[in-house]
Amino acid sequence: MTGLDEQLQWGWDKLATFCYKYHVSPPRHLPEFVAWLHQPIESWEGIGHLFASAHLSGPLLSYGTPSEICADLGRGLHLSSNPEREIQDTPFKEILDYCKVNHLAQQYREARHFLVTHPYLPYGGITISQDTRWDAEVRKWLRRAYEPVPLVCYRSINGQDHIALCPRCKWPLEWRTQRRSIAVCYNDLCGQLVKHIHDPQQWELVSPESMRTTRGIQESVVAPEVPLLELYEKLAQDHGLSCELWPEVDSYDVAVSMSDGERWAIDMKDFRSPTELADRVRGFLLAPAWDRAFFVFPEHRRHPGYLRTFTALWKKPKGQHIEALFVDDFLRRVQEHEKMEV
Ligand SMILES: [Zn+2]
Repeated sequence: MTGLDEQLQWGWDKLATFCYKYHVSPPRHLPEFVAWLHQPIESWEGIGHLFASAHLSGPLLSYGTPSEICADLGRGLHLSSNPEREIQDTPFKEILDYCKVNHLAQQYREARHFLVTHPYLPYGGITISQDTRWDAEVRKWLRRAYEPVPLVCYRSINGQDHIALCPRCKWPLEWRTQRRSIAVCYNDLCGQLVKHIHDPQQWELVSPESMRTTRGIQESVVAPEVPLLELYEKLAQDHGLSCELWPEVDSYDVAVSMSDGERWAIDMKDFRSPTELADRVRGFLLAPAWDRAFFVFPEHRRHPGYLRTFTALWKKPKGQHIEALFVDDFLRRVQEHEKMEV
């Protein structure tokens, strides 16, 4: 058994123990276990109600890929933490540390922006190695954030290799099964947000040198920033406000200069679980200086109780004027503020 299977076995054993405790028959063989994992956990016979009452719902696997809830639950467990994902996240952490120590805010900002806007490099690593703007160390780690596009992404159309990019996060989709035409992205979130993810309208020719961000980078750096870039563009283009993305290394996400000279600080937080989110965030760094600060949540996280749960559990620092709200409510707030100025 490989390391990954070991984790699966561990989970299966745990599930069996849990089932016996509640007098339920556990899955008897691997196909049955895998079938369970594709069912919403709240519907598991005899034990599903326990998950439901802990506000846990949804399947752990989606077309064979760990779902968002699976990743969330796994993060808290030592045994099932995903070492591969941890390692894959390293290049960005290295860039962050290096730029922080060397006060390279501009390199940091550009490297982060490059990753978020280039999950797919049709011409491969040469795009990075030939770009003279990069500091040598930043270039090295940026390059390591990419891998060759794996064959599981390839589809043959008229005898030529093609790929399709996820309409939401622009990562090359994977085709995990031969019989059914099922496309999956880095996890199940994109499949939930994109209606026809399995039926891409746009195909691109792919070559052996083409690269994509690793799953870890896509999951922890690129995809969570999709709603941030959308918000940034709305503020800059629709509202004509002067905004700066990532104004400092490892501080908040956007600094907005309002018409009356107030500076608003935004930190976008894309978390499935408001409980985990409340656990992870505190306040805002005071530099660069701001007058008001906002934790903004993507609209796809809006569901009854989300904001209430977060607000109840979040240990808000005293003396900081921070609000927490969803994107559309934040944009309304901006509009009202700007109207008062006219
Ligand atoms: Zn995607």
